[in-house]
Amino acid sequence: MAFSEVYLNQMTIKVAINGFGTIGKRVADAVDAQEDMEIVGVTKTSPSFGCQLAVRKGYPLYCTFDEEDKIAAFAGAGYVCKGGLSELLSICDVIVDCSPGKVGAENLEKYQNAGVKSIFQGGEKHALTGKSYTSSANHIENLGVNCTRVVSCNTTGLSRTLVPIYELVQGKGSISVNSVMIRRAADPGDSSKGPINAIKPVLKVPSHHGPDLMTVKPEIDITSLAVAVPTTIMHLHAITVNLPLGHGLSTEKVLETWKNTQRVIVMNGTKNKITSTAEVMELARDIGRKWGDLHEIFVWEDGVSLQDNTLYYFQAIHQESDVIPENVDAIRAMMETETDWKASVEKTDRAISAYYGI
Ligand code: NAD
Repeated sequence: MAFSEVYLNQMTIKVAINGFGTIGKRVADAVDAQEDMEIVGVTKTSPSFGCQLAVRKGYPLYCTFDEEDKIAAFAGAGYVCKGGLSELLSICDVIVDCSPGKVGAENLEKYQNAGVKSIFQGGEKHALTGKSYTSSANHIENLGVNCTRVVSCNTTGLSRTLVPIYELVQGKGSISVNSVMIRRAADPGDSSKGPINAIKPVLKVPSHHGPDLMTVKPEIDITSLAVAVPTTIMHLHAITVNLPLGHGLSTEKVLETWKNTQRVIVMNGTKNKITSTAEVMELARDIGRKWGDLHEIFVWEDGVSLQDNTLYYFQAIHQESDVIPENVDAIRAMMETETDWKASVEKTDRAISAYYGI
């Protein structure tokens, strides 16, 4: 192994989190769990309740902004704030931007000026970064890049189950996909969104979810419709895949493939009495990750059916957490410390399990 490779493999990647909200606090813990990474700081815009979690975890607290009065407000509320974003940028290798979305352009300029690599989330558009990421679709294309975007929770879910199907039929023809995204109205901690008693179609057709998959896997021809429903726990996808003639697959072969796919759980809903997203989330709480998170995509075995050239299935997505381990893999891709996506996924997931003692 060359000296530079040895050095890269031994160094600890210094990671900062900008925006310590729903996604940011989860990414922080997932990074903290890894042997090859450390959290050097997290930001809050103001001294709100999330600061207590950062203090309890021992994550150095910074202000999202550089203005003196905004930084001073933290001390006024009893928190030690180590400085503004510029100071945090001066000590990190990578910053994971977990801001609410659509503020990315302004933040990206700050990261670029500081010469720091950055990862954005699915609330930002692909055009901002020109690169998007999921572990299974395009880890290799993200090796060494300065900036990328981990796609949304829904797109991550589509990638997890569709990329293996694409790979199964490679050489026999292409696949085309129609997907219906039945979306949770709001995250559990969010009181500002709805609907609470209606089914709300997304009138932009197709919805952005399907086409977004093509930013990481352009070979999959996919379109999508979306509706929001009054639930806070999980999205559900109803997916139809048109397979090429002579695909040679069966329902059993597809199930076996997904059962051997990282970060996919396949369970029989009827036999296990796990017939809705409510029971899937109860299963997640039993697993024992913090916040009751489910990083895996859940597929109902008895809801999968391959008829002639068409595959039908349902899957459930824990919106707040499936993208979390992908952020860790994206850091390794950008820093070029792991070129094999499967090895990175294995490393990430093993460390997270050990962190929570599960
Ligand atoms: P959130 O509102 O829970 O957290 C955002 C945090 O960023 C808050 O702490 C907020 O104070 C802070 N912030 C506000 N302005 C900022 C700025 N200019 N710079 C840095 N931080 C700022 O939002 P979230 O749900 O964690 O979403 C973050 C990103 O992740 C979005 O792009 C979103 O689309 C994406 N995402 C969210 C989910 C989900 O279900 N929540 C799933 C996948 C991806």
